[in-house]
Amino acid sequence: RIVYVNGSYVPEADAKISVFDRGFLFADGVYEVTAVLSGKLVDFGGHMKRLRRSLDELALSSPADDEALLAIHRELVSRNGIEEGLVYMQITRGAAERDFAYPSGPVPASLVLFTQAKPLRDTSAARTGIAVATVPDLRWKRRDIKTVQLLYPSMAKMEAKAKGAGDAWMVDEEGFVTEGTSNNAYIVTAEGVVVTRHLSNDILHGITRAAVVRIAEETGMRIEIRPFSVEEALRAREAFVTSASAFVMPVISIDGTAIGEAKPGEFTLRLREAYIAEADANAI
Ligand code: PMP
Repeated sequence: RIVYVNGSYVPEADAKISVFDRGFLFADGVYEVTAVLSGKLVDFGGHMKRLRRSLDELALSSPADDEALLAIHRELVSRNGIEEGLVYMQITRGAAERDFAYPSGPVPASLVLFTQAKPLRDTSAARTGIAVATVPDLRWKRRDIKTVQLLYPSMAKMEAKAKGAGDAWMVDEEGFVTEGTSNNAYIVTAEGVVVTRHLSNDILHGITRAAVVRIAEETGMRIEIRPFSVEEALRAREAFVTSASAFVMPVISIDGTAIGEAKPGEFTLRLREAYIAEADANAI
């Protein structure tokens, strides 16, 4: 695989980052993951907007403008022959003597990108749906910034796996679901209302979420943007999650309790199909 590191395209074995990189020492960096369908990038503009916001929130200077980042994404997709998969991009504050304070002088940011070839459209998880297990949300309180500080979501995923589930739903102190470890969470109530938590510092503002909420509205689904509790979710008729890599993924059980008929639901499948059709048509 050819990866991109600070201006060069190199075989992954030759890629080098300093041990003093603040991404490595402090998780002082942000990232984006963009889906590739038919060799093209899905909602690249949305990912760039969120990237700019994450960078601003951390006073991180950008190593490149959107046009240059698009060119690097495309070059990597082409060099690695990616038809379907993901492009991961990470920007960190760069290498400086270890110190909690940000470096005072001008330090070039580190920019790293790599591709992952994998099926997205047609996966066994999407056909069967996934089980989720709930865990307390023990992350920091700026989950709206897409930082590379992902240890708790990783621990939560391991806890879910130990319980035989495919992913974790994290739950706030009041018993409301915040989001999945790497996706936004939704239920469909018995009355057929799609419910997903409002945007705030409590969750990542998903690019897929924005598209799916809009598609639900455009196709005449009833939608409520509000928190839902685990208790309400257990009584839901459908549940699903969204992300750039999973698109719209059915959830068929929560903590071992079947949701609906424990198979991908009708609203979920309609949204998945509509999302993929639109993503494919608008990819660049
Ligand atoms: N929430 C979290 C915590 C995530 O890590 C992700 C994926 N990066 C999402 C939600 C989904 O965001 P997106 O649709 O932009 O991939």
